[in-house]
Amino acid sequence: MNTQSPVTGAQRDERPDERTAELAGRLQRVHERIEEASRKAAREKPELIVVTKFHPAEDVRRLYSLGVREVGENRDQEASAKAAELAGLDGLSWHFIGQLQSNKAKSVVRYASAVHSVDRDSIATALSRAVLAERESGVRPDLDVLLQVNLDPAAEEQTRRGGALPASLPALADQVAGLEGLRLRGLMAVAPLGADPRPAFEWLHELSGALRRDHPEAALLSAGMSHDLEDAIACGATHLRIGTDVLGPRPSMG
Ligand SMILES: *Cc1c(COP(=O)(O)O)cnc(C)c1O
Repeated sequence: MNTQSPVTGAQRDERPDERTAELAGRLQRVHERIEEASRKAAREKPELIVVTKFHPAEDVRRLYSLGVREVGENRDQEASAKAAELAGLDGLSWHFIGQLQSNKAKSVVRYASAVHSVDRDSIATALSRAVLAERESGVRPDLDVLLQVNLDPAAEEQTRRGGALPASLPALADQVAGLEGLRLRGLMAVAPLGADPRPAFEWLHELSGALRRDHPEAALLSAGMSHDLEDAIACGATHLRIGTDVLGPRPSMG
C-alpha cells in the first residue's frame, strides 16, 4: 500500500531531487518485498519491470538514474513519445503491455524490445510484418513476444482484462513461433478483478508448463502487479509489472 500522498506535477518539476528520493524509497521497498516473497517461495527472484504509464518521461529518467533498465507502457502514443525523448539512455528496454491494435504495430516495433500482450493472430502477423519492414532501414533484433491469457473467460465483457482464451493458446503459440522477426518467449496475464489472484496464477503456471512442452524456449511468465506480486512469485512469475507501488498513484487516477 502507498502511504505517501501524491506529488503534483508542479512539485516534480521544481524539486526533482525530492521526487528521485521518493522513487528510490519506494523502489527499495518493492525490491525488499520481491526478495522476501522469493525467499519464502524458494524461487529465483523475478525481473522487475517498472510500469511508467501516465507518469512523465522525467520519472523514467529518474528511475534510470536509480538503476532501472526495464520499463513498461500500455499506450503506443505515450510510449513512443517517451522512448523518443529518452533515446539517449543506453540499455533502457521498453516493454509494451497494453491492448494493441494492428495499425500500431509499426510504431511499437520502433522502440519496444518485447510485447507482452499478443492475444490474436492478426496482432502477431502485424508485428512480424512491422519487424521485417523495420529491418529494411536498419537493425531490428527479433521482437520478444508473450501471449496474453485471459484468466477470467467467464467474466462479463466489462470486467475482462484482455487476452486469448486458454483453449486458443496452442494454435496462437504455433503461429507466433513460425513468424519471422518474432521470438515466442512465454505468457502474460492480469489476475481477474475482485477475486483472489492465487488460483488464477496457479492456473497460469499450469498453462505455462503446457506451453513449454511444445515450445521449451517460451519459459517466461509475466505476472504480478503492485497488489499481487507475492502471489505471482509463489506461482513462478519470471517478470513482474509494477507501477503504483514504485511511482505512486497515476496522475489521471487522482
Ligand atoms: C498498469 C498495469 C500494470 C501495473 O499495475 P500497478 O497496479 O500500478 O502495479 C501491470 N500490468 C498491466 C497490464 C498494466 O496495464
